[in-house]
Amino acid sequence: MTSLTLHKQITGWGRYPRALCHLYRPERVGGVIGTLQHAEPNGFLPRGLGRAYGDAALNSEGGIILMERIDRFLAFDESTGVVRCEAGVSLADIISTFLPRGWFLPVTPGTKFCTVGACVACDVHGKNHHHDGSIGNFVRSLTLLLPSGETVRCSREQNPELFYATIGGMGLTGITLEVELQLRRVDTGWMVVDYVRTRDLDETLRTFHERDEHYLYSVAWLDCVAQGRGFGRGVLMFGRHATVDNLPPARRQNPFTIPRKRDKSVPVDLPEFVLNPLSLKAFNGAYYATHPSREGVFVDYNTYFYPLDSILQWNRAYGKRGFVQWQCVLPYENGMENLTRILETAQRRHAYPFLSVLKRMGESSGGILSFPMPGYTIALDFPIRNGLFEVLNELDKIVIEAGGRLYLAKDARMSAETFHTTYPQLPRWQAVKTQVDPKGVLQSDLARRLRLMEVAK
Ligand SMILES: Cc1cc2nc3c(=O)[nH]c(=O)nc-3n(C[C@H](O)[C@H](O)[C@H](O)COP(=O)(O)OP(=O)(O)OC[C@H]3O[C@@H](n4cnc5c(N)ncnc54)[C@H](O)[C@@H]3O)c2cc1C
Repeated sequence: MTSLTLHKQITGWGRYPRALCHLYRPERVGGVIGTLQHAEPNGFLPRGLGRAYGDAALNSEGGIILMERIDRFLAFDESTGVVRCEAGVSLADIISTFLPRGWFLPVTPGTKFCTVGACVACDVHGKNHHHDGSIGNFVRSLTLLLPSGETVRCSREQNPELFYATIGGMGLTGITLEVELQLRRVDTGWMVVDYVRTRDLDETLRTFHERDEHYLYSVAWLDCVAQGRGFGRGVLMFGRHATVDNLPPARRQNPFTIPRKRDKSVPVDLPEFVLNPLSLKAFNGAYYATHPSREGVFVDYNTYFYPLDSILQWNRAYGKRGFVQWQCVLPYENGMENLTRILETAQRRHAYPFLSVLKRMGESSGGILSFPMPGYTIALDFPIRNGLFEVLNELDKIVIEAGGRLYLAKDARMSAETFHTTYPQLPRWQAVKTQVDPKGVLQSDLARRLRLMEVAK
């Protein structure tokens, strides 16, 4: 049984673009299967909690299958830390259920309000990519519902090509019903963090390379407004899970208990004038000034991994027109020059990002359309303004020339040509897609925009 709920306008997290879709909200797996019996001119797409930024989870005038109620835990092996759960289980559910037993996520993006099925579809990465790679590396197996109605299991051993097409496959190879995931053993809910403030881009990159291998997690906040001598300065945050012995004595009895923070919220869309170069300069300067280098700071896992989650609807801070996050990965070769070109171009064109995050990436998980590759990844948040997309097209060109690519889970505007040029394994992915979904039942706005099923011209 399933019911057609709403014909409604929805968006991704960036609130751009908007799409009118038919929303279905099945309560059980049977309902997901039943939904596919409906006629939808633009087919169907599974959706988690809508935290992909652009149009990855949109399907204009098509069906959207909300997976949020397909959220049961099915099995857990206490000795190995392997959990089997339905795809709509959120990362927050996994943490609240298993952290008290000493298990944490093996890889986590910067929000826990997302579903495990979607994290596999995006092959998400975290601050430990240089060390562990993306979530695909920790997926033991998947159970997929194909458009034919058939349910198949896939893993590295069983239907491997379908497995690798689904990891990072943006929900287009099948609807993931179940995921078997390897969790990470931890002793506490706390992190020990070293903060290093750097003076310029050269020092930022050098510090990453010198220190990274000694830490499980690393990430840098960059001041993208600073020019001249301070160009590329930032604050690097190196972290690891604290052991019980690391904790102050008062915390050792309850190592998984962390302080509850009161959520704040952005109640209305902020007007555009609030985010201008002057306010950004002031914000960046203040952030830099208040984050001096410090070693061995105790931080609870929420503060370290999910700093934005406690500000509900923070995406409203960018104003009514919404925002895009532009995230690329650039190979290490000429990485310094290419990062400089990107930041300089943005500054020259007065496109100042509100938030800039830099990380180092290691090897790919093998997902055919997975984003990560060894190199630097930089994510820049831009409120939508007239002329912004022209600037981003210029940045895309730098990425193409560098041999890098853009992240589909964040993208809302790259051209199909850019995508086809930078994802060379697309034909291999298309072969799997044609086999499991010959009629193109699973579709999305992203897939149509990037002409995912078309051969490059
Ligand atoms: C504050 C913030 C920080 C972030 N940080 C990071 C980060 O550090 N690293 C990173 O990699 N990403 C990051 N992201 C992106 C986000 O984590 C991913 O896009 C995540 O997959 C979103 O999950 P969701 O449940 O909201 O999925 P949605 O946005 O609803 O869907 C995302 C994709 O998953 C597909 N999908 C959903 N459910 C299924 C299913 N059951 N079967 C098959 N396909 C499915 C959808 O079709 C869509 O293509 C961040 C996002 C936010 C808002």
